[in-house]
Amino acid sequence: MKLGILGGGQLGMMMCQEAKDLKISTFIFTDTEDSPATKFSDEHIIAQYDDYEKLEKFIQACDVITYEFENIPYKTLNHIFKKKPVYPEPQINNIIQDRLSEKKFINELNIPTVPYLQIEDTNQLLLVEEKFFPAILKTRRLGYDGKGQTVINSLKEDTNIEKNYYILEKRIELKTEISVITVRYQDNSLFSYKPIENIHKDQILYSSTSPASISNELQTKAIKWSQEIIETLNYVGVICIEFFLDKYDNLFVNEIAPRVHNSGHLTIESYNVSQFQSHLRAVCDLSPIDPKLKSKAQMLNLLGEDIYRYRDQTKIEKDLYFHDYFKKEAKKGRKMGHVTKILA
Ligand code: ADP
Ligand code: MG
Repeated sequence: MKLGILGGGQLGMMMCQEAKDLKISTFIFTDTEDSPATKFSDEHIIAQYDDYEKLEKFIQACDVITYEFENIPYKTLNHIFKKKPVYPEPQINNIIQDRLSEKKFINELNIPTVPYLQIEDTNQLLLVEEKFFPAILKTRRLGYDGKGQTVINSLKEDTNIEKNYYILEKRIELKTEISVITVRYQDNSLFSYKPIENIHKDQILYSSTSPASISNELQTKAIKWSQEIIETLNYVGVICIEFFLDKYDNLFVNEIAPRVHNSGHLTIESYNVSQFQSHLRAVCDLSPIDPKLKSKAQMLNLLGEDIYRYRDQTKIEKDLYFHDYFKKEAKKGRKMGHVTKILA
């Protein structure tokens, strides 16, 4: 079985690491030189995602194709899908790549998101009622780790914006953030990991803890909504739904990641089956495994120069697992690695 993976980041890297144990051979297609996943894959091609000649080689070589990053052009995914199976299917990505169609899809299932408005230029922004603020202006496409987002506290501020496709989201006071990782297999079997609690700093994930310290009722609700979303999408593979919880215990879906997710890295050490293995098993049609929590755990992202503390350390303390993504330049805010601590 040869699995093609579009994207070469750390999510792809951890998929390749798990694939070795499952005797799945991996082929990475990435547009970036020196990317983490190519250090662990069996084969790779570095080319642009619209280089159809290079894509043809990749398509011919692989039995099934997945992706580790959601911003692969829809046209590319669809082109591949005409020739080989792609999981999750491209039309799913088409909904999720645009924050507006993503939120409409969620609301159509009667699942709440925070209030939002569609905005395209300064004039439209100036027509928004003052009581909608503070708000966050988010570009509809290509945002991640808070990129493409601007907080607008009030229209009294300088509110000249560049023409673009945006959504303006009401900024809510967060009590906490959680995420739920769910896997769906080709035989329709479905499993969710326990909700994970996430802390963001400067809009970038800082730490994840499992299980989340929320009531059973909220856990059940988050899992139920996640499973409704994955089933409606007829999705195969791992999906991560991010949620906001406000101070009144109102739960909202924030966004859908059609892939393995940063908050799920702790499943490597704290579950009988990691999110990466679950994804591979579902996409490659291996037998389903029900994820079971072995121990509580906390993951910390190592951003920028944080990585050096661990790279230099010869002895890492007991029950602490260090993962290096082997990226050369420790740019500020860049995800360079993570550590997972098993909690008693
Ligand atoms: P990205 O695609 O960059 O992950 P998100 O929409 O998930 O974008 O935003 C990143 C983080 O910014 C969230 O996890 C949350 O901490 C904060 N944030 C985003 N939107 C809101 C909001 N409407 N109210 C409060 N905090 C928000
Ligand atoms: Mg997010």
